[in-house]
Amino acid sequence: MSTNQPQDIVKLALDSHDNIAISFSGAEDVVLIDIACNLAEDVRVFSLDTGRLHPETYQYIEKVRDYYGIEIELLSPNSQDLNQFVKQKGLYSFYADGHQECCAVRKIAPLRQHLADLDAWITGQRKDQSPTRSDVPQQQKDTAFSTTAHTVTKYNPLANWSAAQVWQYIRENDVPYNKLHDQGYNSIGCEPCTRAISPHQHERAGRWWWEESTKKECGLHMINVVET
Ligand code: SF4
Repeated sequence: MSTNQPQDIVKLALDSHDNIAISFSGAEDVVLIDIACNLAEDVRVFSLDTGRLHPETYQYIEKVRDYYGIEIELLSPNSQDLNQFVKQKGLYSFYADGHQECCAVRKIAPLRQHLADLDAWITGQRKDQSPTRSDVPQQQKDTAFSTTAHTVTKYNPLANWSAAQVWQYIRENDVPYNKLHDQGYNSIGCEPCTRAISPHQHERAGRWWWEESTKKECGLHMINVVET
C-alpha cells in the first residue's frame, strides 16, 4: 500500500465508498480534486468555512468550483455555539490560551457533524508536513470521528508525496492554486493563524507559530497527535 501512487489511492477510495467526499482546505490539496475529477463525474467536495479565512482563499474556493464545474459544500460553525464562544472569549483568544477551543467550534464540530453522514473522506495530509504527520498512512480508520455504530475511513493519498511532488503536479497539470502561495504563504489555514514564511523555514512554521510544533493539529487530524 505504501508505494501506491495518489491516483491509485483516490481510485481505491472512490471505488470502495459511494458516500465519500474530499476535504478541500483551499491550499495545495486541490491536487486531490484534480485527480478525482479525472476518475469520476460526481466528486463530492467540502471545505470548512471557519469565517476567518483569507479573502484570497474564499476567491480561490470559487475559482476551483468554476474550474472543475463541481459543487463545494462550505461547512459553517453552529451559530449559537460560535456566538457564545466569541461573547465569552473574543476573536483572538487563541493567541493567549491556544487554538484548540476556537478550532473546536469553528472546525471540529462542523466536521464531526458532516462526517456522521459520510462513510469516508479524503484528505491532503502528507508525512513531511509536520512531526505530527510523520506516520500518516494512505488509508486508515479514523478513530477520531468513528463511533461504535459508524466507522469513518480516512484516505491520505498524498501521504508519501513531498511538497515538491505536489507542486510539480500542480505546474505540469496547470492546476489552479491559491495566490497566497506566491506571497510566501506555504501551508494556508485561517488568516489570524497563518503567516508567510521564509524559504528556509519548514512549511508548517507559519501555522500557529506561537505554539509548539508537536501540538500543531487543529483536531481535524487529532488522531495523529493521539497516536504519536
Ligand atoms: S485556525 Fe485559528 S481562527 Fe481558525 S479555527 Fe483554529 S484557532 Fe480559530
